[in-house]
Amino acid sequence: MGLSTFKGGIHPPDRKELSKDRPIRQANIPQRAVIPLSQHTGAPCKPIVSINQEVKKGELIGEPVGFVSAPVHSSVSGKVVAIGEFPNAMGKMVNSVVIENDGKEDWTALRDSPDYTNLAPDELKAKIKAAGIVGLGGAAFPTSVKLSPPKEKPIDTIIINGAECEPYLTADYRLMIEKPAEIIEGLKILMKTLGVNRGFIGIEDNKPEAIEKMQEAAKGEQNIEVCSLEVKYPQGAEKMLIKATTGREVPPRGLPMDVKVVVQNVGTALAIFEATRYGKPLIERVVTVTGEGINAPSNLLVRIGTLVSELVAECGGFKSDAGKVIAGGPMMGFALASLDVPITKGTSGILVIPEEGVLHTEDFEPCIRCGRCIDICPMRLVPSMLSVLAEKGHYEEAKEYNLFDCFECGSCAFVCPSKRPIVQLIRLAKSMTKP
Ligand code: SF4
Ligand code: SF4
Repeated sequence: MGLSTFKGGIHPPDRKELSKDRPIRQANIPQRAVIPLSQHTGAPCKPIVSINQEVKKGELIGEPVGFVSAPVHSSVSGKVVAIGEFPNAMGKMVNSVVIENDGKEDWTALRDSPDYTNLAPDELKAKIKAAGIVGLGGAAFPTSVKLSPPKEKPIDTIIINGAECEPYLTADYRLMIEKPAEIIEGLKILMKTLGVNRGFIGIEDNKPEAIEKMQEAAKGEQNIEVCSLEVKYPQGAEKMLIKATTGREVPPRGLPMDVKVVVQNVGTALAIFEATRYGKPLIERVVTVTGEGINAPSNLLVRIGTLVSELVAECGGFKSDAGKVIAGGPMMGFALASLDVPITKGTSGILVIPEEGVLHTEDFEPCIRCGRCIDICPMRLVPSMLSVLAEKGHYEEAKEYNLFDCFECGSCAFVCPSKRPIVQLIRLAKSMTKP
């Protein structure tokens, strides 16, 4: 029997060998942390600190406004020296709190719960919410919202996403190797919170060590299964992962909860364990700093608010031929215009590609109707048509071709012989119209 997978997809070179054997190590603690109050999907937080106020590590500095939001905590102990607009990785100015580190590393009082397995689902959810946990796979959707489905959408399955199908990135891989028991505990907490008795961990077949570690940690857990998935991009996209592990198909424009599933990333499962067991807020995450353009590829445990420039320096700086820096992976990440932007909860990687690997999108050619993009689109869209309509400014018409079903995986652009910037054109069309 073949491995579980989905229809479509591509096989880009994975280049994970650059960093996969580098154990996670603590990154330098920043002297100044620039912490955006909006680093999640949903409403920005409102600051609850003032200039010159002393704060401790883990102290609440931004309170959520609205249901879809997540609290923000200080990642260092020190003094608030600025509150105002600072650029984020997308180049957007966002309200942020800047904290000068006093080097004391004083934690705010944490609520340890050695008996966390006895907590009621609502208590678990409250702890996850208070810790400011969001999806660490990149989307940064507030986890407590995913754990509050409407009554008419009961959940019966939790999937932990260990696919990490983006080339180059190895943060999740290292977590599965180094923290498998904690990830399983996080999954069990999620299952209890939602009253679910079926849990999966989906891992691509090119990570045998991670599969083995997770299987070992899940031994004796009757309701948890580790699934080997075919190596194919974008295997880790929620809809593809659900299809591969459960056989269920999320309807067009639907959500995982429409097929009774919640998906969480392995880093999120670990953060959930640490929040419920130790009361630890989300103030740090694992970031892969990698690529052929950086001297010492690494997997680092990074405090939120550390600048990208500091991580680049810590990893030996750029090689002489470094051409472009991307936040995230090469398929779904985005190029950084400046290195003086902070790592946020959603930053899974910093990728430095050499100049020769940089695609100059101004050189693209007209569509030759080869159909390759149509063959591989995992959403069964017609990317060629979407890109042509976007190029001509026919945004409304693009909606008739299910524009908003595209989740911007980049597979179509990867196979296009005319090097058309299909994803950028799709993003443009989305920004010019409404779903
Ligand atoms: S159209 Fe969207 S979903 Fe389809 S391959 Fe292109 S980026 Fe991926
Ligand atoms: S792969 Fe490129 S050239 Fe071929 S049909 Fe799609 S957009 Fe056109």
